[in-house]
Amino acid sequence: MIEMQNVVKKYPNKTTAVRGLTVNIDRGEFVYVVGPSGSGKSTFIKLMYREEKATSGKKLEVAGHNLLRIKNKDVPYLRRDVGVVFQDFKLLPKKTVYENVAYAMQVIGRKPRDIKKRVMEVLDLVGLKHKVRVFPSELSGGEQQRVSIARAIVNTPKVLIADEPTGNLDPDTSMEIMQLIERINGQGTTVVMATHNKTIVDTMRHRVIAIANGLIVRDEAEGEYEFDD
Ligand code: ADP
Ligand code: ADP
Repeated sequence: MIEMQNVVKKYPNKTTAVRGLTVNIDRGEFVYVVGPSGSGKSTFIKLMYREEKATSGKKLEVAGHNLLRIKNKDVPYLRRDVGVVFQDFKLLPKKTVYENVAYAMQVIGRKPRDIKKRVMEVLDLVGLKHKVRVFPSELSGGEQQRVSIARAIVNTPKVLIADEPTGNLDPDTSMEIMQLIERINGQGTTVVMATHNKTIVDTMRHRVIAIANGLIVRDEAEGEYEFDD
């Protein structure tokens, strides 16, 4: 589902954030990406949804898209196959919960009737059907993250990418969000999640890819967090 061979990312200021990443992530896997601040986790993840372009690489394929060759006009097609969740939710403040989720379907031209049915379905899945008319500012952090997860999966992506999804949430709420992400993974969606949360990584065991100085330094099935921040 995700294949990288020797992928390098240098930023314009000459920082080499990622220096030759080679990794394969199969359909249906759940992968944690861990490592110290500044090690390249966000860059690794941003390369997967074309938020950043690779400087060089032998291969960079995600959900059937060749990201070394993809044209800008084709990036929206990639984004249908790759849903993204952020630490700070990034909801649209002037749109309601319903509108925030529906928007992701409107921009790809889905029919209003299909949109209504699917939006209610995903809001039910994340437990927020009763909040459709509410604005993000009226929700708790955990509820806002649920809306952002609903938005990320509304177009049934093959891959769900999450960059520190529990970074702004208390421990109990973090566990609830993790249970939701695990449920989505259980339905077949490949999950890649960058995190600093040792408790989560050590209790909800999945593959762990550790990054340090722009390189993969550890890759273990059912691994542990295993380093000091
Ligand atoms: P995190 O991955 O912890 O959410 P960021 O990706 O925002 O944080 O930033 C990680 C590191 O990258 C920080 O050290 C930050 O200063 C640096 N950084 C982020 N954006 C830029 C930029 N545009 N120019 C230089 N450094 C940046
Ligand atoms: P992490 O997510 O592990 O904190 P990042 O991928 O954000 O790491 O950052 C890796 C390195 O790249 C850091 O040295 C950071 O300062 C640098 N960096 C990140 N984003 C940018 C950017 N937009 N411009 C320049 N340097 C950046």
